[in-house]
Amino acid sequence: MAGRGFGRVCAGLAVSAVAVVSAQTPADPLRTMAERYVRLVLAIGQHDVDYVDAYYGPPEWRAEAEKSKTALGALDEQAAGLVAELGKAPASVAGQDAAMWGLRRQYLTRQLAAVRARLAMLQGQAFTFDEESRALYDAVAPTHTEAEFEAVLKQLSDTLPGDGSLIERYDRYKQAFVIPQARLDRVFQEAIRACRERTRQHVELPPAERFTVEYVTGKSWSGYNWYQGQYRSLIQVNTDLPIYIDRAVDLACHEGYPGHHAYNVLLEKHLMRDRGWVEYSVYPLFSPQSLIAEGTANYGIDVAFPPADRLAFEKDVLFPLAGLDGAQAKAYYDILALVDRLSYAGNEAARRYLNGQIDKEGAATWLEKYAMYSRPRAEQRVRFIDQYRSYVINYNLGKDLVRAYVEKQAGRGATPAARWRAFAALLSSPRLPSGL
Ligand SMILES: [Zn+2]
Repeated sequence: MAGRGFGRVCAGLAVSAVAVVSAQTPADPLRTMAERYVRLVLAIGQHDVDYVDAYYGPPEWRAEAEKSKTALGALDEQAAGLVAELGKAPASVAGQDAAMWGLRRQYLTRQLAAVRARLAMLQGQAFTFDEESRALYDAVAPTHTEAEFEAVLKQLSDTLPGDGSLIERYDRYKQAFVIPQARLDRVFQEAIRACRERTRQHVELPPAERFTVEYVTGKSWSGYNWYQGQYRSLIQVNTDLPIYIDRAVDLACHEGYPGHHAYNVLLEKHLMRDRGWVEYSVYPLFSPQSLIAEGTANYGIDVAFPPADRLAFEKDVLFPLAGLDGAQAKAYYDILALVDRLSYAGNEAARRYLNGQIDKEGAATWLEKYAMYSRPRAEQRVRFIDQYRSYVINYNLGKDLVRAYVEKQAGRGATPAARWRAFAALLSSPRLPSGL
């Protein structure tokens, strides 16, 4: 089923292309249900502006969702009906790879459970942090106490120069690693080039794939990939706060290669176009797919740039390009590695805040104290938590789950090539967080 184009540009072409494909291939018992799922997600998007992260199926499906504005209760009835029908769908189909078919069926069922949970939230049902993350992302983040973070904070205190509070010392230290505004794009373009080159050595991407980068302000996130279909993305980088040198490779890998852009390109190529699985033309943000998306995007940084490679690249290429002192790169990355061990403190702030144990102010203070966020960054993060809630677990828990899965698949002491193979297979398959 190759060469099919679901165009955003030409509605007529998209419809006729679907008709041609279904006439030439054996009937897909999930085709109608998949289409109803897509339409359902688009309809929820009418009530929740953040819900539809990407859509590149037939434009008239979206136009119909916009026109009909179906009520939330009716949408939930549709979702329940779809779940019941899916339960009766065949467990295997002649001519389809049994494992992939099983994953597809499970995936659609689980995505629909998340659809129903989001509908319940939109209708006012309250969930605890963990209930919500299990319902939406098919995972629950471990809990941590203050004492667990204290040991790392002590190590940081022993390492960071100067005096004042720990966050003041960290902030002051980091000032030497800000990318000057005038050099930002040059540094990012070089990081993107390197991430793309490394990814393409191991993962086959369609020649037409590309993205554009835009610099924006006034957002609760630091970067965003808007996948547009036809192997294109728009990547936005938020310049509200200073951008430190480590963000160049992080964002280039996370948003671009082998992260979100590559992931969406591979799903479009392998699942949507080659297999005709139309459910992949839509990406509901508050769903298990996001844990896989954020987890692979974050782990992908380490796959593309194992620590020693990364340090050499930063020191020899990016630091000079940003006008920074490469001799400081090693010490800087050692400190960042320590701070990274505090990432679960961010989940704790969100859990306590969303469970009503602390208020906005308390959440920002917690982030400042235990996760080493400067005050403006902590306030930005609280705005993120207000907007995206338990989504925060997808980054660190997602990364840890994806890492464990890929390392297990690749085998102990795997070569970088074996690791890339296992990683690329995950990027091209409909695996759920609980299946990792
Ligand atoms: Zn992301």
